Amino acid sequence: MIQIQDLHHTFLIGKRGKERPIPVLKGVSLEVGKGEIVAIVGKSGSGKSTLLHVMAGFMSPDSGSVRVAGKETAGLNETEHAEFRLDHFGFIFQNFQLMPGLTAFENVELPLKLKGVPSTQRYLKVTELLKKVGLIDYSDHYPNELSGGQQQRVSIARALVTDPPVILADEPTGSLDSETEQDILMLIQSLNQSLGLTFVIITHDEEVANIAHRKYRLHDGELVTGGVGHAV
Ligand code: ATP
Ligand code: MG
Repeated sequence: MIQIQDLHHTFLIGKRGKERPIPVLKGVSLEVGKGEIVAIVGKSGSGKSTLLHVMAGFMSPDSGSVRVAGKETAGLNETEHAEFRLDHFGFIFQNFQLMPGLTAFENVELPLKLKGVPSTQRYLKVTELLKKVGLIDYSDHYPNELSGGQQQRVSIARALVTDPPVILADEPTGSLDSETEQDILMLIQSLNQSLGLTFVIITHDEEVANIAHRKYRLHDGELVTGGVGHAV
């Protein structure tokens, strides 16, 4: 589903004329198979989020190749990337990134509006997903009227609403207590099994990484293959 080869990325830090380079990705190669949960584990600052941003096309790498569903994406321009992203990726973030002025229903509905899906179809799809994540009774709640775990369930429903083949999750349980973390991890596992969805989970937390079929470790800008997690 995803093949990354020899990815390099360097940030330039400091004032103009006095910039210094900070190499963050130094030849990263990885593969994610269809239907897999793959974890990328690494310490804070090791470049995990940078790797995810490059994978999703939010950022262009200095060099290297990113293939998603058979298409080379590293060379796409911004508009092409945005369209490709909407079709192929759903996102889950540590801080949920819900729109505060929209209800749970409207937050989940938003990507479908962006794609121009008619309202009857939107209603059916959003209702189905809010049921799936256990929040149908909270459809008209605004994000600040939901707990952290509930907000993350809304953001998971939003990630799924366009039926993307891959979900990219950056510290999906980083803001949750351990019990809620377990709930969300079980939801991710059940979505992986029931829908065959592919997940890439970025985390510093070994317990989170243990739900993955395979782990990679990001160390000093390079990936090393990690051990196998609890197979699901
Ligand atoms: P964390 O676990 O804390 O989220 P991370 O592994 O996701 O860390 P990144 O956010 O990818 O780490 O950052 C990796 C390195 O790149 C850090 O040294 C950071 O300072 C640097 N960096 C990240 N984004 C930028 C940017 N936009 N401009 C300059 N440097 C950046
Ligand atoms: Mg990060």
